[in-house]
Amino acid sequence: MKIAILPGDGIGPEIVAQAVKVLDVLKQDGLKIEMEYGNIGGAGYDAEGDPFPESTLKLSQAADAVLLGAVGGPQYDTLDRPLRPERGLLRIRKELNLFANLRPALLYPELASASTLKPEVVSGLDIMIVRELTGGLYFGQPRGIEVRNGERVGFNTMIYSESEVRRVAQVAFGIAMKRGKRLCSVEKANVLECSELWKEVVADVAKGYPEVSLSTLYVDNAAMQLVRNPKQFDVIVTSNLFGDILSDEASMLSGSIGMLPSASLDENNKGMYEPIHGSAPDIAGKDLANPLATILSVAMMFKYTFNDEGTAERIDNAVKKAIAQGYRTGDIWTEGCKRVSCGAMGDAVVAAL
Ligand code: NAD
Repeated sequence: MKIAILPGDGIGPEIVAQAVKVLDVLKQDGLKIEMEYGNIGGAGYDAEGDPFPESTLKLSQAADAVLLGAVGGPQYDTLDRPLRPERGLLRIRKELNLFANLRPALLYPELASASTLKPEVVSGLDIMIVRELTGGLYFGQPRGIEVRNGERVGFNTMIYSESEVRRVAQVAFGIAMKRGKRLCSVEKANVLECSELWKEVVADVAKGYPEVSLSTLYVDNAAMQLVRNPKQFDVIVTSNLFGDILSDEASMLSGSIGMLPSASLDENNKGMYEPIHGSAPDIAGKDLANPLATILSVAMMFKYTFNDEGTAERIDNAVKKAIAQGYRTGDIWTEGCKRVSCGAMGDAVVAAL
């Protein structure tokens, strides 16, 4: 298992160091893990003059999986756009053809009070949103702003080929098979031809997964259902635009940005794994960050790239145990719990492991 480790900027190095502690334990236990470090984002610019240096491209291509911390920081905001840290992130996703973005929305019962929704609505929440990441409205041509009949018009194209829908649907069905075997495809087929095709192709892919029960929802209804009764969902698959909106909505159900991992996969389940939050410059270098989203990203890596459910579960359970034991970083701390540093939270997970 070759893992490219890209800590990045801000809290990136601190949170990745905790995930590496977890990987080191697994290595000691006999798993054949190789880790190699690379630069990305501002760290790439500082060291090699490029937010996604050639050396990091090669390292990531040669690896089976990539673990990324976060990129960005105020010191880079005045750089030319192509040199900015966030551009490095877009480039690595594109270069590795990571078309399926997996974002779980998961809430540990002990953290239910962190959500803006009533505890009984969100406690035990466990949804996986699969968002198509490299096509749809965000990439469709033609696009632009031009003058027509004496006034400016802006336009974009929502377009999906059958093969683009098929491959992301296959990923989503595969994930549903590893979870509760329920998949909801979200589109707007009552209005959009692009969604009509999406719906047809997803239904066709479903024939290959008879054990998975497939449902469909229009996106407006899905947005409503996510706050009305989010626990009705197991896996959701949707297009780039709808997924962008729904995954942000769903992540907020769980209240804490420091708890949520993500994965972006290619056709062969090679993946890049990263927390959903950014580089948190306000707390960087202070040993305050919550490393659990990054550690949970490692659990996703074992589940989806290395097909090792046992190890994934072991990591998930270690995180659950650390939470049950009352350990909390500042972002999830409540009265009566043990407030710990980033490093101490990593140690608590390692001890539980
Ligand atoms: P952010 O996610 O970095 O921070 C938002 C708030 O959440 C901050 O108050 C921060 O302290 C807190 N926070 C975030 N992660 C935390 C953690 N693990 N533990 C405790 N608290 C945490 O978003 P932002 O402030 O909008 O952006 C900061 C920088 O990160 C920007 O340069 C932005 O471009 C970049 N960014 C990068 C990514 C990425 O690398 N994938 C994603 C989003 C933003």
